Amino acid sequence: MGLESQCVHCGFCLEACPTYVVTRSEVHSPRGRITAVKLGVPTEGIETCMFCRRCELACPSGVEYGKLLHNVRRPTPLKFAVNLVMENPALAYKIIRSARGTNSRLLSRIRTFLPDPSEPLEYREETPDLLLFPGCVTSISFRKTVENALNFIKSLGYKVEIVNGCCGLSHYSEGEKGRSSLLIERLRSRFQGKRVVSLSANCSAHMKEMGLEIEDFSEFALKHIKEKRVDIELTVHDPCHANLVGLTKVTREVLKRLNVKVREMDEPSFECGAGGGYFIFHPEIADQVMEEKARKVRKSGTELVLSTNPVCSIALAFKGLKPVHLADILSHGS
Ligand code: SF4
Ligand code: SF4
Repeated sequence: MGLESQCVHCGFCLEACPTYVVTRSEVHSPRGRITAVKLGVPTEGIETCMFCRRCELACPSGVEYGKLLHNVRRPTPLKFAVNLVMENPALAYKIIRSARGTNSRLLSRIRTFLPDPSEPLEYREETPDLLLFPGCVTSISFRKTVENALNFIKSLGYKVEIVNGCCGLSHYSEGEKGRSSLLIERLRSRFQGKRVVSLSANCSAHMKEMGLEIEDFSEFALKHIKEKRVDIELTVHDPCHANLVGLTKVTREVLKRLNVKVREMDEPSFECGAGGGYFIFHPEIADQVMEEKARKVRKSGTELVLSTNPVCSIALAFKGLKPVHLADILSHGS
């Protein structure tokens, strides 16, 4: 029996699902998707899943929805190609950079969200004892955050090397079994014997779930910072995969230690709307989810949002909000 057989169709997952919340359509709900798998009738809903896995946390029957979707979904050629490019952030940067004024709908959608991509930061000290892994999107979209993280880690006396690459979460979410495993195995051998700090919380969560021994930046920060006062007030977005593995709790511990004033938003782990590369391929649903997220943020009373995952930050910035990473806050308070 497959994983889908555990679903008892109770519907407890429905309101947790961002695509159901904005469409109110059973086809675009976890239950509808599982039913499609059970019946062996592929629906549009399999394509429109954001792979946030919020449904897993809501499910009383313990349906492992992420594994289920990974087993049945396969990428379109275009999604496969985009994932392939993202494996090499320097190449992704060049392609996005050269796409100014392009007629390609796909590239102009990317440029809308990423108007000013940056070249991945290269950095290596002699005999490094710590590897900093920004993650593919952070490498090309938040260079200042990478610099802030690097400076923070160096200030603690570590010798650092930056490893620009991709963890394969997007590949995994599209059911690219071979490719996602290959990327993880490459990182496993690259990271072997080294302390590794990962700057993108959802990538951290994925690598941990795949058995890599890495620390999320929040975990690293919590081990090293002392209590102090950083005089800012913000709300906190909990990136979905980071939330699944408990990393968002660590982030909040760091904020407590920094005495940052937090204005809680409704459902902090509600999807940002970006969904990895989802916003490129499913603009209608993605835009509605982004709008719903922005509404929750604004209701908190501040537009400054802590977001430890870059794709979420891109979506939040697109809605006119002000995302900031923990590494940026630490540089602010030093
Ligand atoms: S992974 Fe997210 S978008 Fe997909 S069915 Fe579950 S809650 Fe909905
Ligand atoms: S996935 Fe879980 S919560 Fe959703 S309908 Fe099935 S049993 Fe209920």
